[in-house]
Amino acid sequence: MKWEEAADALIKRMPVDSRRKVKSRAEAAALKAGKNIVTMADVEDFCKASTGSVSHESIGFRLDACSGNGVCSNRAHGTGNDTINQLFEKIRDLLEKEDLGDFLKKPVNGPLRPHHVFRVSLSDCPNACSQPQIKDIGILAAAVPMLTEKACILCGSCENACRESAVCVDTEREIPVIDKERCISCGSCITVCPTGAIAAEVCGYRVMIGGKLGRHPRLANELQGIHDVETVLFIIKWCVDVYRVKSRRGKRFAEIVAQEKKSILSNLEQALQKNNTKKRR
Ligand code: SF4
Ligand code: SF4
Ligand code: SF4
Repeated sequence: MKWEEAADALIKRMPVDSRRKVKSRAEAAALKAGKNIVTMADVEDFCKASTGSVSHESIGFRLDACSGNGVCSNRAHGTGNDTINQLFEKIRDLLEKEDLGDFLKKPVNGPLRPHHVFRVSLSDCPNACSQPQIKDIGILAAAVPMLTEKACILCGSCENACRESAVCVDTEREIPVIDKERCISCGSCITVCPTGAIAAEVCGYRVMIGGKLGRHPRLANELQGIHDVETVLFIIKWCVDVYRVKSRRGKRFAEIVAQEKKSILSNLEQALQKNNTKKRR
């Protein structure tokens, strides 16, 4: 059975424990409909159905991503790239190795419930469709724009594309002017610029930690900077280690961050600095 590219990308982002089930059901549905290719439409219903029935509790974590890959023009790193899928796979491998299921089960009386599991979410742009702000760790793709030597033809596309009113085309100097304070690194101006007068200075990820819903909802705290893949993985591992040390009686990571916000954020910043120094050597 063939798979439409977007449908294949979507299923690769599904939690590992539900992927096989959804895949076989989508193929069965396509066959029943007399088709030899599985499309997004075939998958979407089963994606929704599976989200409600998957046993994330058995593996101790839940990893989600927005469905932007292959289908959404808003992606910060531009269309046609596979960066977020690769990051998704690496995070999944890391969390599987951490074996959080066993760790989380110990203090819980009875089976793990959905609110016990460690949640990580990726979004391919600041629209944040996978709600990274309310997850233990939220990751947002980001592209920081910069001006290049290439000519600006004053088409105004960048100005029109920027929803933050952070770009203004200076017709006298014949260059775009970017307001760094307003810019949220969505990458839209880079994507639409026909000449390359605006390009990406840095492509990476914004990371936020300590968000949750539940009895006492809280929004995650964003770390400074735009981080590369290795650093994102370093942050996740650091947070999981802190969680293991500090969590008592099933306390959520977000609750720990809420209670010890200042020290956790500053310790993490220090750890990141050390890690960056090590990487530069
Ligand atoms: S987060 Fe952005 S890229 Fe992902 S689906 Fe939403 S709008 Fe598209
Ligand atoms: S200037 Fe505007 S469009 Fe360009 S990256 Fe920043 S927020 Fe996005
Ligand atoms: S920077 Fe690019 S998109 Fe903006 S006006 Fe110039 S050519 Fe057009």
